[in-house]
Amino acid sequence: MILPKANRLTPEQVREITRIVELSGCRIQPIVGAVRTIYAIVGDERDELMFNRLEGLPYVERIDRIQSPFRLMDIRSDLATHRIAVGGVILGQKLLVIAGQCTIDPKNPNYFLETAAAVKEAGAHVLRGGVWKPRTNPYAFQGDDKSLDILMEASRRTGLPVDTEVMDEYQLKLALDAGVTMLQVGARNALNYSLLRQIGAAVAGRKTIVLLKRSLHMGTLHEFISAAEYIANFGNPNVILCPRGTAPALDGYRNHPDESIVPLLKERTWAPVVVDPSHSVGKASYVPACALAAIAYGADGLCVEAHVQPSRGIGDDPKQAITPDVLRALVAKAQAVWQLVRAGKPATTTVRAKTGRVARG
Ligand code: PEP
Ligand code: MN
Repeated sequence: MILPKANRLTPEQVREITRIVELSGCRIQPIVGAVRTIYAIVGDERDELMFNRLEGLPYVERIDRIQSPFRLMDIRSDLATHRIAVGGVILGQKLLVIAGQCTIDPKNPNYFLETAAAVKEAGAHVLRGGVWKPRTNPYAFQGDDKSLDILMEASRRTGLPVDTEVMDEYQLKLALDAGVTMLQVGARNALNYSLLRQIGAAVAGRKTIVLLKRSLHMGTLHEFISAAEYIANFGNPNVILCPRGTAPALDGYRNHPDESIVPLLKERTWAPVVVDPSHSVGKASYVPACALAAIAYGADGLCVEAHVQPSRGIGDDPKQAITPDVLRALVAKAQAVWQLVRAGKPATTTVRAKTGRVARG
């Protein structure tokens, strides 16, 4: 929908916009009002170049997109009834809890093995453990391939599926070969389109799930959902969105807590939303409140850093990991909030099945 700066376009301007949209197989339909005339773009209007050309015209004030740019992740797409299941939980039907250490210490594997058993006992469905770490400081511990064996050993002992971050094709291959169920795309890489494409291609045809963190530098929700679209576009739609705090940091919190975006995401996409309160607030004592707020906002689950002895941990664990006891209490409260939030609401499947559909392209 093209809104001109003047009340209506001149015949020459109409010819120009018509030429532009025809290049993308569309046509112009003027809608004549008493004062202003606006110009509808009729046809598949998702061609980015067409928009850029129209937006560059000096007599165009604004262009409103009618069609969603998300062919797969849009709430009206054919995938809206797709359900992601992991660790015995169907997302949206039961609260999903992902918990475990920020970083696996390859020199002290027992901490991770103990943490794995403890988070399972506390109610976690998926075990998280950082094998490779994106660290701001190049001299900080960057992770170790050996930790992948520890992660998989913990998975075997507990029976829990595991989540770990991969940052390049080498790590991606190792993780998939080892049997990692959930691949984490970290906040720093959520805008790395070539990595998103590599991950999308690698998980196509598998049951693997991608936990996509929100980048600190993602302004619009459009950018967040578009990143998910990059992955799903290769054929595997098992993408979970994970708000984890954004920029600018709040004085006292590690990042700007962003669990309040959950309802906004849910209006636009069918993708489940699992909030990471640990990186959002960055301090163990603030984590439970942030986690409960996320569930109150309608999150489908939580991804929480936990450690049997946080002070002995590495990476983020000494400052932001909660203990298994705190996790157990949090899971109980989170389940109670979950029930309250959903009480009296129709099942999500029914609501979504009634929405309009956008053709997959
Ligand atoms: C992490 O999960 O430990 C991590 C580094 O997360 P993020 O990418 O959100 O900073
Ligand atoms: Mn961490």
